[in-house]
Amino acid sequence: MATELLTRQVLPDTARVNPAGHLEIGGCDTVDLAHTYGTPLYVYDEATIRARAAQHRDTLRAVYPSSEVLYASKAYAAPWLLRLIRELDLGLDVVSGGELALAERVGFPMERVYFHGNNKTPDEVRRALELRLGRVVVDSFHELDLLARLAAELGRRQRILIRLSPGVEAHTHDYRKTGILDSKFGFPISTGQAEEAVQRALAAPSLELLGFHAHIGSGIYEMDGYAEATAIGFEFARQMRERHGLELREYSPGGGWGIAYTPADRPMPIPEVMRQLTRIVREAAQRTGLQPPRLVVEPGRSIVGTAGVALYTVGAIKVVPGLRTFVSLDGGMADNIRPAIYGARYAALLANRASEPPDGPVTLAGKYCESGDVLIKDIPLPAPRSGDLVAIPASGAYNLAMSSNYNLAYRPAVVVVADGEPRLVRRRETIEDLLATEL
Ligand SMILES: *Cc1c(COP(=O)(O)O)cnc(C)c1O
Repeated sequence: MATELLTRQVLPDTARVNPAGHLEIGGCDTVDLAHTYGTPLYVYDEATIRARAAQHRDTLRAVYPSSEVLYASKAYAAPWLLRLIRELDLGLDVVSGGELALAERVGFPMERVYFHGNNKTPDEVRRALELRLGRVVVDSFHELDLLARLAAELGRRQRILIRLSPGVEAHTHDYRKTGILDSKFGFPISTGQAEEAVQRALAAPSLELLGFHAHIGSGIYEMDGYAEATAIGFEFARQMRERHGLELREYSPGGGWGIAYTPADRPMPIPEVMRQLTRIVREAAQRTGLQPPRLVVEPGRSIVGTAGVALYTVGAIKVVPGLRTFVSLDGGMADNIRPAIYGARYAALLANRASEPPDGPVTLAGKYCESGDVLIKDIPLPAPRSGDLVAIPASGAYNLAMSSNYNLAYRPAVVVVADGEPRLVRRRETIEDLLATEL
């Protein structure tokens, strides 16, 4: 199992099984990490984040110089990570006042921040204007009017993109599709609403419309959805130039490319995704007779997903004879709700017995009070014993970002590993943390 997880890039780049038969990440023995910091523990491999960021950034710069890679911080936003993203020369995509405030705290250059979201509040919009964000990606008429008015009040001219709903199907779970007509995100083209948004934006002196954005969803393993959405977006841009004199100066297909959660997943290598996207954009520009615009991509999961590994300790083991073996972990849906909300699938290994061959299948259950709190159903593992350490790879994106205090769970500690050195970047929560907001 461990070998397959390594060769299929489900585990971080620096992962290996050490001579003791333990999973090692970033030169650190995960059994030691669990011993030092307790479990559940999230371990991030810095080298993997650096490598994924560089793969996006360097390929895109080489094949399409007028471009920018933004890290979609909703995948995971923490001070250490946003500082690293800034150091790696990526821009940032934020979707809330909280993410924006964090970007401000770590001194992120605001001209490289893009602000998304289908219902930005007046306070959020005002803050974005005050901080002079690079772009606001406008998602509704309500927001368009609000932004135009507040920008005028502040005497600012805000650069914007309009988020299109191109009406294409991404091959992913329903909850992760965003480009279809029946979606809360963006202005539909087919209904004429996108064109009306363009007209209103062009008529507002306090707004500078640079182009369009069309994120079609997340967890996508094929490029055809991007090709389709981009073709539609560019044809729309051509019409807008013809009818309203709009020049397309910037275009973003969003993010969403998938990673390997299990050895069965076959994500395209990141440089290949970048090359294909640029080819798609160039072809769309050529077909419509438009100048190739500045290209902005927004990966989240593919920057941090593979870098993170969740570690849990096995507690109760319940055998239902002839049916199933439930192996209960000391975490679950409070730190990883993805299996419960969209049937996300994961692989696992026993980090303290990583070179042992599997026995029968077991079900890795969480400790929270929901029957749906199961992290992995029927996965072959060496028969687990209480006290074993379970590692679930590909836990770096959308786990902690969506984590909760359900059952008054304490959110896990987070440790970053690099060159054999662990660095605790977040301590485990305590009851005091949970009570800090209670009056
Ligand atoms: C979520 C999101 C992304 C990033 O998606 P990933 O699947 O993490 O790459 C990018 N852009 C927008 C607008 C998003 O909503």
